[in-house]
Amino acid sequence: MTAPQTAVGRPAETSSTLPKSSTRSIYDDALSRLDRAAEIAGISAEVKEQLREPLAALLVSVRVRMDDGSQRVFRGYRIRHDDSRGPTKGGLRYHPDVNIDEVKALAFWMTCKCALLDIPFGGAKGGVAVDPHQLSRMELERLSRAFVQQVADFIGPNRDIPAPDVYTNPIIMGWMMDEYSRIRRELCPAVITGKPIPLGGSLGRDDATGRGAYYCIKELEARKGWQPSAVRVAIQGFGNAGQSIAALLHADGYRVIAVSDVKGGLFQTSGLDIPAVIESKNRREFVEDVYCGRSVCQCSHCGSIDHECCCEDCECPACEASHISNRELLELDVDILIPAAIENQITAENAGRIKASYLVEIANGPTTSEADAILNAKGITVLPDILANAGGVTVSYFEWLQNRAGSWPLEKVHRELEQRMVAAFQAVERVTQENSTDWRTASYAVALKRLEEAMQSRGTQTFFQAAQDA
Ligand code: NAD
Repeated sequence: MTAPQTAVGRPAETSSTLPKSSTRSIYDDALSRLDRAAEIAGISAEVKEQLREPLAALLVSVRVRMDDGSQRVFRGYRIRHDDSRGPTKGGLRYHPDVNIDEVKALAFWMTCKCALLDIPFGGAKGGVAVDPHQLSRMELERLSRAFVQQVADFIGPNRDIPAPDVYTNPIIMGWMMDEYSRIRRELCPAVITGKPIPLGGSLGRDDATGRGAYYCIKELEARKGWQPSAVRVAIQGFGNAGQSIAALLHADGYRVIAVSDVKGGLFQTSGLDIPAVIESKNRREFVEDVYCGRSVCQCSHCGSIDHECCCEDCECPACEASHISNRELLELDVDILIPAAIENQITAENAGRIKASYLVEIANGPTTSEADAILNAKGITVLPDILANAGGVTVSYFEWLQNRAGSWPLEKVHRELEQRMVAAFQAVERVTQENSTDWRTASYAVALKRLEEAMQSRGTQTFFQAAQDA
């Protein structure tokens, strides 16, 4: 099979060219983390059993009339994993590889993440198997509205609240809120988060995921006495979350030496000029563009992603830096590696070659459990996804609150986010120390304990048995 070509003829790097995980399904892999953490936290078998299967799963056909008059049918999913601690919450992804197993795993992670951050939400996730870059804006709007029509009875401000994820964004969230409100015949801003600010979005939601990870890195910095300019960082994935963490670390003096997106990346040992790379990537013909087609390694002058053919005298970041593939980026000699793209990037196949001392997981599920064992043996500290990327759902929670009780200034959003991230970081740190365990296991242990408390508040086997015996 020939590799897909980009607009300028260079083969695009796709998920199929990247490291693959073992044959175990991503959901089974996700659950394997539950077993280890449950042992440490002393979680009952009942609780584990409840968390093993999602509460409810919905599979829908999303029928879209295309611009050329034809109809296409896309497969959509929404899964509510567990609602013990509150209405379920989780993103919606538009990606060709979306499938039920992936959505189940993502929903399970959301349950654990909300519990770890002590947010009164359960976990959910959804998506549509589609490449949104292939649709016109009007087709994309019709797809988004058609999806909401199909899931309207499954979601709701007090039942299940979607948010943006890979290849979805505030504009799409706005269309979805609008469609849901039309169906309910009343304005329902709290049904979805990550909306544009004029439609009830929260200040600070745009960079919340990156900012949450940034607060975790600042905690590490305080403990390790790091000088930011001496710390080399590589970031895989240069979308919403990847750009935010890059910008925050760069502004703090960290040396971000490599970034990449789906087409490949840039590398410069002295450190990239991150604002210039962001500007170059996001340069748009239209301010309101739904998707930016540019790549981080695309010359802003000639449009080429081939370094060699870049214009002379060009000072764009793509020309000053070297090109690097996603695979090479992961294996760079850096201090902090930040996967911020998609799942299963660090596997048993490449974990042995990871040179970073710290892995800060902004993507959901970037590391397989087999890779975990290898990274732990190498002494690499992994700040897991359910901790490091929890800033997004935390500010989504703030948005949901504000849709009911009035808006907050940006300073308050940042202050409250930092407090919650630091509290979660410290709770996990305590468990790592008390149990001599890794950060991922400790994160799940904290989350499971909170989930157990909520489940057991409704009664335990001992409680019901005692009533029968009396
Ligand atoms: P995004 O769509 O804005 O960006 C995704 C980035 O990943 C793009 O740069 C894209 O080019 C790149 N990418 C896609 N496929 C790739 C591949 N095969 N190899 C390398 N790069 C690839 O998405 P986002 O919102 O930034 O989300 C990124 C990750 O962070 C996802 O795993 C998501 O689940 C997770 N996350 C996001 C949020 C949020 O609030 N946005 C919250 C928590 C977790």
